[in-house]
Amino acid sequence: MALRPRTQPERTCVACRETQAKRGLVRLVRSTTEGNSRVTVDESGRAHGRGAYLCTRIECWQRALRTGAVARALNVQLTPDDRRTLEDYSQRLVPATP
Ligand SMILES: [Zn+2]
Repeated sequence: MALRPRTQPERTCVACRETQAKRGLVRLVRSTTEGNSRVTVDESGRAHGRGAYLCTRIECWQRALRTGAVARALNVQLTPDDRRTLEDYSQRLVPATP
């Protein structure tokens, strides 16, 4: 691993705990509307609300949903709708290929 200036903001994937440049991760954000907390994928990376990051490996999404890592990081209960949203998004990720 070559040394490089740490000019990129770095974030940690809540599933594998690997640190990466922020743009290599997908941000999930908790937003509250009328007292209801929803967890959505923040594709802009700039939405207001508490955020958590997952890398783009589908395995991490599956693990995060299975273990509740996302819910823990965001301090929220995932609703069935939230889970479906995250599962749908993870299906669009390309699995790592050798
Ligand atoms: Zn990960």
